[in-house]
Amino acid sequence: MIQRESPASTRQRNPGSSVGPVRTCVGCRKRELANELFRVVAVIDGNGQCAVTVDTAASLPGRGAWLHPDRQCVQVAIQRRAFVRALRIAGSPDTSAVVEYVEELSASTARSEEQVAKNMSTP
Ligand SMILES: [Zn+2]
Repeated sequence: MIQRESPASTRQRNPGSSVGPVRTCVGCRKRELANELFRVVAVIDGNGQCAVTVDTAASLPGRGAWLHPDRQCVQVAIQRRAFVRALRIAGSPDTSAVVEYVEELSASTARSEEQVAKNMSTP
């Protein structure tokens, strides 16, 4: 019996396409699923000063940039002025909110790891 594969079954399907949208981290430039990254947007404060803020719900309008929740990626993005390019900002934005966000994340991760270590050491 000759089995002929129908064109539908031979078509290459990207397994990632069913998982979710893929974004590029502006820090390390790696492509990643959007749910592994966090979104930042540019906001203008009352003084006309531009600031980069974390859009945790990924729902704020306007241009967004995506980053790994990783200090390294944030630092690289700041050094490369990746926010300025990705968000089309003029001048130097205030990125302290983003830095604080990842600092907080990594602090809570460190705390839970410490907790695990403590639990492991108890006899
Ligand atoms: Zn990254």
